[in-house]
Amino acid sequence: MEKKSPFDIFFDIFVVVGTTIIIVLFFILVVKILGFETVVKAKIGGVPLESLKYRGAKLHWESGNPIPKERLEIFYTVMDSLSSDVNEKYSLENNPTDFFYLTAEEYYWGDLTYGHGFEADAFQRGTEVFLSPTLVDSTNNTVLFSLEQFRYGPWKRFDDNQAYNDGHFAMVLIHEYVHVVQFNHSDYLNSYATDVGWQGDNKPDEDEKFYSVLSSYSLENPSEDMSETFMYSYLCGNNLEALSEVRLQYIDDFWGVPREQYCQNFH
Ligand SMILES: [Zn+2]
Repeated sequence: MEKKSPFDIFFDIFVVVGTTIIIVLFFILVVKILGFETVVKAKIGGVPLESLKYRGAKLHWESGNPIPKERLEIFYTVMDSLSSDVNEKYSLENNPTDFFYLTAEEYYWGDLTYGHGFEADAFQRGTEVFLSPTLVDSTNNTVLFSLEQFRYGPWKRFDDNQAYNDGHFAMVLIHEYVHVVQFNHSDYLNSYATDVGWQGDNKPDEDEKFYSVLSSYSLENPSEDMSETFMYSYLCGNNLEALSEVRLQYIDDFWGVPREQYCQNFH
């Protein structure tokens, strides 16, 4: 066998190192394209959290209590829609949002939420969205148990039949995200409110078009009206015919692509 010259050895090393670098770069590229980044651990408000970044979203959860896998898939799909299918100005890339999925203890009584989450299945604060265990994992016995323990509190008693399906979960994500957009673009909310017929925070006395909404919660105030309107359009199965013409136009404006391209068939 021929003895290798120092040059050959150097060349072999060069090939090995070069190949390794190319493989590593390739994986970094794949990770970037898929939007996944490594899980980061940090303490926020004294609570040990893990988080990952996906597109413009950062998802946080308490160590040891990750979002169930099936729900995480729905979360990714919704984030994809908010990134790619929404009018650029209102897209997730331009409205980065922190999502917190918390245990019952932290959500209902913890420092992170300031006990804000009592009744709501989810709520928004600034550019943060908090998701309750009842919304994300309502079939989990541990969640049910911890809620049962606090049933004598001022909060709503948990109803066993209230297990939310994927479609509801997805719609709530859209609803709360729209609140974040409103937080960043108050002019957008103002023009929506005026155009659909709100008089400040008041409802007009007689205006058939104004009352053409899909939920009574829409009539709570202008921001709920807008969140509800955009949220319903996300599920293909939701019939939007009852909505007023102006609201339908705003739906088209918010989503940058035709409905059949962004709507989902979650169950
Ligand atoms: Zn709301």
